[in-house]
Amino acid sequence: MEEVMSAGTDAGVGVGALKELFEKKLNSAMRLYLESCARCGLCVDSCHVYASMPQTRYTAVGRAEVVRKVFKRYFKLQGRFAPWLGETLDLDGLSVDALYDAAFSCTGCRRCMVHCPFGIDTQLIMSIAKALLIGADKEPKLLSMLADMSIAKGESVEETRADFAQALANLDGEVRALWPDSPMPAIPYEVPGSRVLYVALAGSHSIVSAAALMNAAQESWCISSFEAVNFASFLGDAQKAKKVAQRIIDEAKRLGVEEVAIVECGTAFRYLKHMIGPQGFEVVAFVELIDRYLAKGRIRLDPMSLREKVTYHDPCQLARNSGVIEEPRRVLRALAPDFVEMTPNREENWCCGGGGGLVAMGEEEFRMKSSKVKAEQMRDTGASVVVTACENCHSQLSDLSRHYELGQRVEFLSHLAARALLRG
Ligand code: SF4
Ligand code: SF4
Repeated sequence: MEEVMSAGTDAGVGVGALKELFEKKLNSAMRLYLESCARCGLCVDSCHVYASMPQTRYTAVGRAEVVRKVFKRYFKLQGRFAPWLGETLDLDGLSVDALYDAAFSCTGCRRCMVHCPFGIDTQLIMSIAKALLIGADKEPKLLSMLADMSIAKGESVEETRADFAQALANLDGEVRALWPDSPMPAIPYEVPGSRVLYVALAGSHSIVSAAALMNAAQESWCISSFEAVNFASFLGDAQKAKKVAQRIIDEAKRLGVEEVAIVECGTAFRYLKHMIGPQGFEVVAFVELIDRYLAKGRIRLDPMSLREKVTYHDPCQLARNSGVIEEPRRVLRALAPDFVEMTPNREENWCCGGGGGLVAMGEEEFRMKSSKVKAEQMRDTGASVVVTACENCHSQLSDLSRHYELGQRVEFLSHLAARALLRG
């Protein structure tokens, strides 16, 4: 990918329709965010993209400014009566390109929000840019296709149920290798009355360790038919994102579970936990569940399981944006004696640089360039193992380690915990 991301120059849709899409996003919070920026610049150094590639368009305020200029052009008096005064932007092919560049070079990490005196949420402002891109048919088609595939799976789940059950049965041996006392089957599938519904990702790596841990804790659980990831939420398509989540909500209600445990995937967790409202069941991140098992003595971990120097990367959507911060540290400290923090860490941690759909979209050149600061932060820890609790972060940190020749291994926390399980 080129450094300047381009959506093409032909918006190909009426300005009136785009204006309507913009207007639908204009609730009171959004108006406040659009109207209250003091241009103090305190957010500038917050953004890992700017810290790695110092260009104004990669600052939070620079990105938001593209949307603000369109806002002023169509929704403020100055734009209606004196657009020649500048500070406004017509909705045309060029502005659509600028909106794409702003929205899809932002990972939605919200680190800038922590430093803004007005708490301006750049990710929310970027949701306008994304809505306009969808309206102009200039959204990333790959994300759109992946979101559609998730929705289609929800509509045809009966056709794939038998194959999925067989695929789960084939993993039995792998689960038993981690926890030999696992019941039969080792991965219970859609069992009504289970206490926990575990929502995994595509791929056995997101299932086997989790199954071993829940079996070791003698949890009443079953696995979902659906994958947790919500590509529509990266895309900024609110309707599709709801449909993707609804598949899991319906399943959880049908099975009557108390809790839905989300695999190590920050965006999926944040969406289901914080963005859909109460549904009659609790939503937990899987790392919270491991921490709870440990605290209640339902599992025991070998405190010397990992003797290498280890550090932890806080996934933005799990830590800064959802408050799951101390739980993964407690689990990690229970199995690795040589733990060091990254600097900065917790709410202040640098984004991995792969969020907002960038990993799914490929975008390797941009991801590597825009995350130089993250690679330096990883190297500075001197750790040989970087642990995280998010699939997206895991992919991006692994790519960074390879690209910048850091020689660091990236691990999922759940995998380490499952390997450290003690019997008896
Ligand atoms: S810190 Fe907040 S108010 Fe200051 S420039 Fe950034 S977004 Fe605007
Ligand atoms: S949300 Fe993150 S990536 Fe986007 S502008 Fe703010 S700091 Fe940068």
